[in-house]
Amino acid sequence: MSTESGIPDFRSSTGIWAEVEPFEVASIQAFRRDPERVWSFYRERIHLLREVEPNPAHYALAELERCDLVAAIVTQNIDTLHTRAGSREVIEVHGSIRSAQCLRCLWTGPADAVLERLEERSTPLCPQCGEVLKPGVVLFGELLPPGAMERATDLARTAGLVLVVGSSLEVWPVAGLPLEARAFAIVNRGPTALDDRAQLKIDAGAGETLTAVLDALG
Ligand SMILES: [Zn+2]
Repeated sequence: MSTESGIPDFRSSTGIWAEVEPFEVASIQAFRRDPERVWSFYRERIHLLREVEPNPAHYALAELERCDLVAAIVTQNIDTLHTRAGSREVIEVHGSIRSAQCLRCLWTGPADAVLERLEERSTPLCPQCGEVLKPGVVLFGELLPPGAMERATDLARTAGLVLVVGSSLEVWPVAGLPLEARAFAIVNRGPTALDDRAQLKIDAGAGETLTAVLDALG
């Protein structure tokens, strides 16, 4: 989805995890051991993600929601581009770069203030209890935010159609959501794990496909 905004993906041979070892910079174990290293990775990611813009696929989904044809978006992306494109019901099952949180007292706040504090020291501290804050994204080894998967599963079960856009359906549990639905269609460049179970598979880019859907609907 977001690669069309110029954001590198994670898993391909040119992706982010081909350059850095995820468990060293983006796992809960790494955060407990060396929060400074995790923050230095995320500080760079957050700055990069703030410079990119939503692409035609994000805008098309927001428009489909305004037409009452999309009920909600479930995303593993942390970049907030769906919200920035105007989508209202967005369930960010892996959290987002919008916030930071305290694992001790559960304080959660906007990442902006936290990033300002990062300029002064290498790790931001909780304003409430002084513990080191964690980026508001779900790290490897962490549970998904409470309620998010339950809500996503409910939506999948009650949907007329689940539309999978720009995912190779490799990361569980989100990859299993289409199987909860009455029907699902996939728009993705390249094969996915559920191609043979989908009612429809379109092997093409998200932007061109969703824009064509909007045009076809007039
Ligand atoms: Zn705290």
